[in-house]
Amino acid sequence: MTEKRTLLYEGKAKNIYLTDDDSIILAQYKDQATALNGKKKDQISGKGALNNQITSLIFRELNRRGVQTHFIEQISKTEQLNTQVDIIPLEVVVRNYTAGSFSKRFNLAEGIKLATPIVEFYYKNDDLDDPFINDAHVKFLEIASDEEIALLKQNALAIDLILTDLFAKIELKLIDFKLEFGRLPDGTIILADEISPDTSRLWDMDNNHVDKDVYRRDLGDLIPIYQRVLTDLQTEFEGK
Ligand code: UDP
Repeated sequence: MTEKRTLLYEGKAKNIYLTDDDSIILAQYKDQATALNGKKKDQISGKGALNNQITSLIFRELNRRGVQTHFIEQISKTEQLNTQVDIIPLEVVVRNYTAGSFSKRFNLAEGIKLATPIVEFYYKNDDLDDPFINDAHVKFLEIASDEEIALLKQNALAIDLILTDLFAKIELKLIDFKLEFGRLPDGTIILADEISPDTSRLWDMDNNHVDKDVYRRDLGDLIPIYQRVLTDLQTEFEGK
């Protein structure tokens, strides 16, 4: 049994602990919800457990379909074990439909289907408010090489296909989502972080938001909505 040791990093939605195995970290999902780069902040009881369970299920499915990820196993309602990686400081966003900052930037309504998915990079830096950057900036900042940039985009699009299919099975449209990748000690890039309604936009067939926009935009209670995502995924993929 891998044992939890010292706190390595305190994030907005997760705490990361070292374990007695130096290749494994423990992620503990918290009930804190934030938006607007932390300017809006609330405790929402039960959110951590839901996001941990949803992320665990999705990463298990990705692993099963051959995507290399950091996910090892879920060990409690709020905790999972992950392979330790050096996180690449990029938010890799994939968009299938217009929404959020993309709609704002181009003054477009939300929910317009894109002819092909679009991958975007944001530089993970709270002091700079995670700015939108292009491939040349990624290279200039020495975040990733040309080959790695190509690999990140290719992986992000492959994951998009899997996730779109997975959510379609529970009648949700995958509007957009954010991924983070990390490097193993040998330099191999694998998928890390989380995939949950906190990090993706999911719309039901009546275009209701089934994601963190409910919190960002004060549209109602997050918990029953996240619970619906978990229960439907469990029914579909775990026969529960
Ligand atoms: N996203 C995220 N973390 C961030 C920023 C965005 O998980 O710090 C996700 C967000 O939930 C959405 C997608 O990335 O699914 C695209 O977000 P967008 O750029 O539209 O920004 P937002 O409207 O959330 O500010």
